Amino acid sequence: MGLLDIAIIGGGPIGIACGLEAQKKGLSYVILEKGPIVNSLFNYPANMQFFSSSERLEIDDIPFISKEAKPKRDEALEYYRRIVTSNKLNIQLFEKVLEVQKANDIFHVRTSKGQYQANHVIVATGFYDIPNLLNVPGEDLPKVSHYYDNPHYYAGQKVAVVGASNSAIDAALECWRKGAEVTLIIRGTEVGQRVKYWVRPDIINRIEEGSITAFYNSTVKAIHEDTLEITNEKGETKTIPNDFVLALTGYKPNFQFLEMLGIHITKDEKRLPEYDPETMETNVENLYLAGVICGGMETHKWFIENSRIHAKMIVAHILDKNQKRHP
Ligand SMILES: Cc1cc2nc3c(=O)[nH]c(=O)nc-3n(C[C@H](O)[C@H](O)[C@H](O)COP(=O)(O)OP(=O)(O)OC[C@H]3O[C@@H](n4cnc5c(N)ncnc54)[C@H](O)[C@@H]3O)c2cc1C
Repeated sequence: MGLLDIAIIGGGPIGIACGLEAQKKGLSYVILEKGPIVNSLFNYPANMQFFSSSERLEIDDIPFISKEAKPKRDEALEYYRRIVTSNKLNIQLFEKVLEVQKANDIFHVRTSKGQYQANHVIVATGFYDIPNLLNVPGEDLPKVSHYYDNPHYYAGQKVAVVGASNSAIDAALECWRKGAEVTLIIRGTEVGQRVKYWVRPDIINRIEEGSITAFYNSTVKAIHEDTLEITNEKGETKTIPNDFVLALTGYKPNFQFLEMLGIHITKDEKRLPEYDPETMETNVENLYLAGVICGGMETHKWFIENSRIHAKMIVAHILDKNQKRHP
């Protein structure tokens, strides 16, 4: 492909938005995606419904039509796939970026399939690849998963769902509705306040009527073949029968990858990557961040709806620089 204006790492909604904007503005680019188009969304639960309404997930004002106000995962896959195919975006799928090195102001990007050179790099790698682990004995048992897909699998089984935010609550309700015996293990005192406003009353009612058992102020201590040990804030331990554990306690960005790129990350628990919020350029010149990766451990700060603007900000900054270099 020769020397590109931009190499975009990650073909999620925001990486795609960056590619589309670059293409519209006449810049050469490639989107490098380690999985299928919008890999994270592809791996969301089969029946997942977004908390955003469809127009807030639109990129470049391309209409997103969904049956209900809040689209389902399949509708989002359709939408973003159509943007890629209709606009013939230059995207390389199932091609993982392994290493990026900068020499003489040019980025050398090594992937699982080849090499690319670019004047600018945009990192839009999201945060869905690395789950927050429970770090307890037994977490590596095959019955434990940090991702949830389909409730059918759990019918007739004793399922413990760990977590209190949207992913955990959706999974708990779905599994219970398909015939699983569900126990929720919640670290805090209540179901998360960010749980979708139309879902929260549903789970609270199911807990109050006793259909779903919830242990508050509780954490998992150990996981065994047929049981689960939990402990509460008083240090009391309880062992419950268990077939499957869905540990849905959130995800985090690949900080090692960011550090490999030379991006500074704060040392506190937020682990914020350094970038200029006006331009999205990091402390490494010509290297940008886009999408939810910007939030570090604050994974509830950035969403598609408020990070889709990064694409236009970054491309405008690159064009501005090019203009200054070659007036
Ligand atoms: C269950 C769930 C529900 C959500 N619901 C909403 C919602 O309703 N509204 C909203 O606005 N936001 C929502 N979000 C948050 C946000 O929309 C998503 O995280 C969204 O996918 C972020 O887009 P992104 O392009 O920044 O990152 P991602 O979509 O995560 O895209 C990153 C891409 O980078 C790829 N990648 C990673 N590393 C590499 C590498 N080394 N080489 C090549 N490719 C790589 C990944 O495969 C992935 O496709 C939700 C998140 C989750 C987890």
